Amino acid sequence: MYTDKVMDHFSNPRNVGEIDNADGVGEVGNASCGDIMKIFLKVEDNIIKDVKFKTFGCGAAIATSSMVTEMAIGKTIDEALILTNEAVAEALDGLPPAKMHCSNLAADALHEAIKDYKEQHS
Ligand SMILES: [Zn+2]
Repeated sequence: MYTDKVMDHFSNPRNVGEIDNADGVGEVGNASCGDIMKIFLKVEDNIIKDVKFKTFGCGAAIATSSMVTEMAIGKTIDEALILTNEAVAEALDGLPPAKMHCSNLAADALHEAIKDYKEQHS
């Protein structure tokens, strides 16, 4: 049902945790399986230097959170803002259709964190 990449990111999630004094924090949730995802950003010179996440949720939510952190690190704020939920799901070689709503959290949480960063640093 899940691809090897999903299983890998679920079993060994990357960048789990929190960032003290994060430059931006984003939190989103979905009602259908009760997933809650929180993303913390460290930004320097408009580049995302570090991303950490805390996710309470199903395997798909954890795998997509992990993947989105890897995709965001090293990108500029503007590049990260155009990262889509579809791109995250594709990077994991796809998700079961029933789990797409979970993957829809990852990029949203990242975008919320960037919005928070922009509000604090404009
Ligand atoms: Zn879920």
